[in-house]
Amino acid sequence: MSTPIDRQPLRHVVIGAGMAGILAGIKLKEAGKTFVIYEKSDRLGGTWRDNRYPGLTCDVPAHAYTYSFEPYAEWEAYYARGEEVRTYFELTAAKHGIMPDIQFDREVVSCIWREADACWALGLSTGEMVEADIVIAASGVLHHPRMPDIAGLDSFAGHVFHSARWQDDASIDGARVGVVGNGSTGVQIITALQDRAETLVHFQRSPQWIMPVPYFRYSEEEREAFRRDPALIDAIRYDEEYWSNIHRFTRAITEVDGPDIAMIEALCLDNLENSVRDPELKEKLRPDYRAACKRLIYSWRYYDAVQEPNVVVEREGISHMEPSGVRLKDGRLQPLDTLVLATGFQADRFIRPTEVLGRAGVSLDDVWSPRPTAYYAVTIPRFPNFFMLNGPTGPVGNFSLIDIAERQWDYVAQLLQPLWDGRSRTVEPSIAAHEAYEARRVAAARTTIFGSGCSSWYLDATGVPASWPWSYEAFAEAMTAPVWNDYVLNPVAEPALPA
Ligand code: NAP
Repeated sequence: MSTPIDRQPLRHVVIGAGMAGILAGIKLKEAGKTFVIYEKSDRLGGTWRDNRYPGLTCDVPAHAYTYSFEPYAEWEAYYARGEEVRTYFELTAAKHGIMPDIQFDREVVSCIWREADACWALGLSTGEMVEADIVIAASGVLHHPRMPDIAGLDSFAGHVFHSARWQDDASIDGARVGVVGNGSTGVQIITALQDRAETLVHFQRSPQWIMPVPYFRYSEEEREAFRRDPALIDAIRYDEEYWSNIHRFTRAITEVDGPDIAMIEALCLDNLENSVRDPELKEKLRPDYRAACKRLIYSWRYYDAVQEPNVVVEREGISHMEPSGVRLKDGRLQPLDTLVLATGFQADRFIRPTEVLGRAGVSLDDVWSPRPTAYYAVTIPRFPNFFMLNGPTGPVGNFSLIDIAERQWDYVAQLLQPLWDGRSRTVEPSIAAHEAYEARRVAAARTTIFGSGCSSWYLDATGVPASWPWSYEAFAEAMTAPVWNDYVLNPVAEPALPA
């Protein structure tokens, strides 16, 4: 039997060349490890490659939405356009020399633990089979579009497509455009298309809480100053107010009757009251559930956009599609040339549909029924040497997932150390530790604002919030060091557990 120890250097496979996969690649390269990144598409960038809709913006301040080790002076504005973010990842991957390590157009379709060899056997979409001692699943969260169950979609004579599959040849300018859905995506699209479409209909099943945020562009002089003095970038990235808002936000999630959520609700309500003039429109836009139950929408212009005369907010339910447009439940027709489905993603897929089989052939699909889970969002019992970045039960909210992934990498790197040192063949959490974590997490998640009574992609199939239910500080603390007693190592010779 061969073991990872016999096969030094260990072979690492990273699945996905999005934000987290690029991070893993850079860190593995820095550590001098052997690795390959398999990317299903022909280009890196993950969600920033898939999404190209007009108005795509990252609603985390641009200078806070970078790797901590790679500040970027070139942002055009306080919030970055999606294309700028994609460029940032491309430049960063190239600068850190990992482009040759990415194999494009290779989707990992199966990932099967081979006990006899203590390694993973990966099947690729090209038909190739490869082996890995260590797998880093950085396959993203929101990448499988959720299509709405609207009858007759196929009968529509115009263009109809999901927001993450933008069709460049669709009629937009001077056309009659409809957008279904008012999550962050739908709101950004409506805002961007208002002055392009002849008429714009925003089909809303539930109204949204809209947090007003500042927006300003950086001048060339400011960018030059950022280039000369990265401390100016740090001042924005580590700005006290920005971080106190993040901490306030996570307190708001966990203390549903506390002062922080009350403050967020008041800010959003003031925004609605003071921005929307027409009383009828104001009532259409008024949410009937708690703020932050769904992901909060950050926007500096949405309420202005929907008050323009060419925009209609349609709260009547959709009956079905017809060749000429959307037939509403009350019998009216909204005639359209183009319909954009900003209806979100299947957020419980993660690495799936890749078939992942762990020890004794246990299937990830079975382990993740009824809900996807991972110990501290990173590791899974019976799936040795398998690590997830931005996996299930991690923090979600209006903050940078890059920061989350970096903290997770710091944790993963510590778990990898016994393998890198040759002290252990495998590492995985114990079943008992994971069960205890998940029981605590589910109990806490039910009491968060996400579980306060609304529909959202934050909820799992049983209606329990699928995310990290504690504070940001608690997450940061948990990622500083693994609790080694909760992990099972398979020592090579004498047990040599980390202190
Ligand atoms: P989403 O938040 O899941 O919103 C989907 C929208 O579609 C909801 O308004 C939903 O209504 C509606 N919908 C779904 N099915 C429908 C149907 N059959 N009929 C009518 N309406 C339907 O999706 P998203 O807007 O794409 O955003 C997903 C996530 O991506 C965000 O929460 C965020 O995490 C991320 N994102 C981030 C940014 C950023 O700036 N950082 C930008 C875009 C997206 P209900 O609410 O009634 O279910």
